[in-house]
Formats: sequence, structure tokens, C-alpha cells
Amino acid sequence: MTYDFTDRIQRVEPSATLAISNLAAEKEAEGADIVDLSVGEPDFDTPEPIVEAGKEALDAGHTGYTSSNGIPDLRAAIAEKLRANEIDADAGEIIVTPGAKQALYETVQTIVDDGDEVVLLDPAWVSYEAMVKLAGGELTRLDLAPHDFQLEPALAELEEAVSAETELLIVNSPSNPTGAVFSEGALEGVRDLAVEHDVTVIADEIYEQITYGVEPTSLASLEGMADRTVTINGFSKAYSMTGWRLGYLHATEEFVSEAGKLHSHSVSCATNFVQHAGIEAIENVETAVVEMRDAFESRRDLLVDLLEEHDVDVAVPNGAFYMMIPVDADDQAWCEAAIEQAHVACVPGSAFNASGYARISYAASESRLREAVDRLAENDLL
Ligand code: PMP
Repeated sequence: MTYDFTDRIQRVEPSATLAISNLAAEKEAEGADIVDLSVGEPDFDTPEPIVEAGKEALDAGHTGYTSSNGIPDLRAAIAEKLRANEIDADAGEIIVTPGAKQALYETVQTIVDDGDEVVLLDPAWVSYEAMVKLAGGELTRLDLAPHDFQLEPALAELEEAVSAETELLIVNSPSNPTGAVFSEGALEGVRDLAVEHDVTVIADEIYEQITYGVEPTSLASLEGMADRTVTINGFSKAYSMTGWRLGYLHATEEFVSEAGKLHSHSVSCATNFVQHAGIEAIENVETAVVEMRDAFESRRDLLVDLLEEHDVDVAVPNGAFYMMIPVDADDQAWCEAAIEQAHVACVPGSAFNASGYARISYAASESRLREAVDRLAENDLL
């Protein structure tokens, strides 16, 4: 007897970052000191008040199921936070999920039918493609690499890509993997097309609190977008809470009642005591968020300078903690050589549909970033 796997699961490849992390793990097992710049998470501890709130919630017995869409106090806190982003949000329009990834998954499953067209902006975070394929959607991709990863200069091309056939457009700003923050003009361009062609838009704003010198705009705050945007956000990046698994979506009540069916029949709810810790994060943790953001900004500046010393010119990112560096080569081979020879782990751009680049995460200390650039240069990889 062999398993008869579904078409849908066989449409999807394992994450392309896996090959790199396997190779890095292999090298580490052999005793190598790997500078790991392939990670997608902050390198800070979760701020103490959040940890304490989690422990207190456990001690207080918050260990059972919660209402499926999340505890009312957390949903109210999230709605207030979104209103500060000028989104007209109400607690009843929110689903609290175990990580923003689950919120994205539920959204795609709720909107995309077999054969529906979904427009992605490349380079794009790895899981969007997989989620769309699992739902049976067809991808149309627009490459922002020729525009320094910015959307505003590509609006004319976006106009070509989006049509009455388009069901969903996914916008991620600040972006993983490029760190680009899209301008208000770019988002207004998205709005005009979405309204004209009646398209639903996912605004993945998970890196929204990690920006440098620019104010990000929430897509759902733009006129005409309130009833066609699903806003995705979460706690992983801003509060360094990746392993807690806490995120959310905001959309219309009608959307929430449809997506809520998938939510309740799959995960039931996000972890109870984690939701309590989430309230503490939103309501009382501000300084730590700013400190982490400032640290990322210094590291970005350092990395840009170090690369410049080796004549590597990058599109300077204004958000998140990633940077795309051009590698003038087969990026998979470059990343393998970087691990094998320089013991530096990066993610090949092709994982994000951006060949010829490697993604560097600067969620690492300044000394490790210096070490990484030195090693890459010594091995003629820069
Ligand atoms: N969106 C983007 C663009 C991401 O980079 C990530 C995390 N890598 C997520 C969503 C999901 O985050 P989480 O599930 O940890 O909340």
C-alpha cells in the first residue's frame, strides 16, 4: 500500500531555504563557526514584560480554549492599534491566529478558487506562492527588481498585470525579502487598480513597526480600500515573539465570518495564555520595540557601508531586517559557496523569484556582520 497524495500537496515544493539551512547545520555539526544570516527572525529576547504576562496568564489558569476568533480584550486592543494606523477597525472584524502565516493561509483559502488569478510582486516571500498553489490559484508575477524593488515606478506594469480576471493582489510592505517600503503614491496606485477591477488585496504589514525614516501607510486606510483589504499583522517581528505564534487578520465582518469557519475547523483558536501576553505587548511595550528597531537601523547602515567598501551597491532598504545583494552569478551556487568556503549562510534570491541576488538578514550582531563581510570578501564572493 502506498499513500495516494493529493494533487494540491504535490503542487508545492518544500521551502527553498531548506537546502541552505541543511547545509549550514551539516557544517556546524562538523564544528564550523557559521555566521547565519539566513534567519527570518529578530535575534533579541522577547521583552520581559511580555514574558511575565505570559507566565501570569498561565498561573491564572488561562489554559483552556478561547473563543475561536480570540479573546475580546486582545481583539479590542488590536482594533485600537489598527485605528492608530487610520484603519476603521472594530474588534468584531478581527481573527487572532497562531502566527500571521495562519492568517494569510486562511485569507487565501477564503478568497482563491481553482483557476483564480493572483498577482504577486516579486521578489516575494516564499510562502505566498505555496499558499496560492494549495488553493488552486494561478500566479501572475510582476518583477520589481529592475526598479530597486520599489512599486511606484512599476505602476504602469502593474496596470498591465491587473485586470478584471484578477481575484487577489498580495502587497507586502515593508517587504521580506527586500526591505522596501512602498510609497503612499504606490499604494494609491494599487487602490485605483483594485477599485477599478474589483480586486481583493492582502496587505501583509507584519514588518510595519520596523521602518527607518519613513512612515508606512496602511493600505486599508486609503479611501475605497476598507471593504476590499485584508490586513495581516502579528507579534513575531515587532516584539520578537516568533515562537509564541501570534498574529491576526482584519477585514470586513462578512469576510471574518467566512474565514472564521476555516479558523474554527482547523486551529480552533490561538493559544490562550499567549493571547494574554499579546495584550501586554500592544498596550505596554513601546520602548523595547523602538530599541530593537534602532539596533536594526544601525546594522543596516553598517552593512551598507561595509558592502560599499567592496564596491557592492545595494538598494538601501527602509524597513524590515533584510537586504538583497546582487551576486552576479547563479545565486544558488553563490549561496552554497558562501557556506562551504566562507561559512556564511544567506538565502538564494531564486527562493523569492529573484535570481542573481542573495538575501542577507541583518538580525545579527554588528561583530557578526563584520565577520560575514570579511569572510565573503576573503573568499572572493564580493
Ligand atoms: N509575512 C511575512 C512577509 C513574513 O516574513 C513572515 C515571517 N517570516 C510572516 C508573514 C509570518 O509570520 P508569523 O507567522 O511568524 O507571524
